[in-house]
Amino acid sequence: MADSLSVAQGREYLAIPGPSVIPDQVLQAMHRPSPNIYEGALHSLTEAIIPDLRRVARTRHHVALYICNGHGAWEAALSNVLAPGDRVLVPATGRFGHGWGEVASALGAEVELIEFGKSSPMDMDRIADSLRADRRHEIKAVLAVHVDTSSSVRNDIAALRAVLDDLGHPALLMVDCIASLGCDRFEMDDWGVDVMVTASQKGLMVPPGLGLVFFNDRAAARRAQLPVVSRYWDWQPRAQPQEYYQYFGGTAPTHHLYGLRAALDLIHGEGIEHVWARHERLANAVWAACAAWGQGNGPLRMNVANPAHRSHAVTALRIETGQGTALREWLTDNLGLTLGIGLGMAASDDPARHRFFRLGHMGHVNGQMILGLLGGIETGMRALGIAHGTGGVEAAAAVIAGR
Ligand SMILES: *Cc1c(COP(=O)(O)O)cnc(C)c1O
Repeated sequence: MADSLSVAQGREYLAIPGPSVIPDQVLQAMHRPSPNIYEGALHSLTEAIIPDLRRVARTRHHVALYICNGHGAWEAALSNVLAPGDRVLVPATGRFGHGWGEVASALGAEVELIEFGKSSPMDMDRIADSLRADRRHEIKAVLAVHVDTSSSVRNDIAALRAVLDDLGHPALLMVDCIASLGCDRFEMDDWGVDVMVTASQKGLMVPPGLGLVFFNDRAAARRAQLPVVSRYWDWQPRAQPQEYYQYFGGTAPTHHLYGLRAALDLIHGEGIEHVWARHERLANAVWAACAAWGQGNGPLRMNVANPAHRSHAVTALRIETGQGTALREWLTDNLGLTLGIGLGMAASDDPARHRFFRLGHMGHVNGQMILGLLGGIETGMRALGIAHGTGGVEAAAAVIAGR
């Protein structure tokens, strides 16, 4: 390698699929002395957060707030709808589908897994077959992942609802939107989603630490039938967080609430439809660059072949020559740009793991950041002598310029 002078000093860019870039407005909102948790501003702030969260999730229904990450939100949601021995259907399109199923299994559920591999979306016919075979309606819930962050596959949740409806199957439709909320279009009520889980550190642009579970009245009815529900995860009292934290829930997640307030102001100030359109445009720019790099003998490939099945929040890539890890390390050391590792695509002791990496383009990202990300990758490939087609950044610029 020729003359290498690190130019990493300056503001770092963490382009991994969560935690995402935190806006200055969120950081500043959190930079304050502890507020009084018993009265005052924190209470009105918490109360006003609820309707604004509903607007992001596109639901009229309930939302429970937890101090936890996404794994906690998975367990919280399941704890309110499953009793040990209940059956759940898990149509997995990546590592996170499996992960949610494992949490259900650890809670005593009987998990029926449908494996769709690591680069394809759900096949609704296979899901229909499983539900049709369940004549006695023993399957209590379908655990779907909207965007599986490991594979960057995006699933068609409205189509999944239609499968349940066509068969008259009463299973709850539960959806993990941890990666997709605030990035990819999601319509909880219009798509007939009964339970949705998310977390603060991706499209919501707040540090990890808040888990959110949205649920409708069908799901609430299931909760009411359960003989016991874990005290901490019970969503019933938490659906009134301003009272919950004051009277029976322990200390509120004070600074996260201030951060979330600022993040919701950013999202609704921009408009959720615009937020989705921005992510779509920037994702198209990323894909245009990746496609150009893969031309000719370029070893770089997007994990999901069909753009219609790709998330707008994250792009998983494969580099046949196994230089993914080297590229990531070079970019961090030399440009202050950090890409995501491959997750769940190969075992941690398998050399093939070096073939995979991911680009996070979720949340607080704009055109200059994406162009910097892509220009950085092109620079790293050049420095490391990774063969690639030319014109990647130019192709991305054309997408962003709209011509
Ligand atoms: C990040 C993520 C999770 C896990 O969230 P943690 O906060 O890391 O526990 C689960 N599902 C999806 C789709 C994710 O993107």
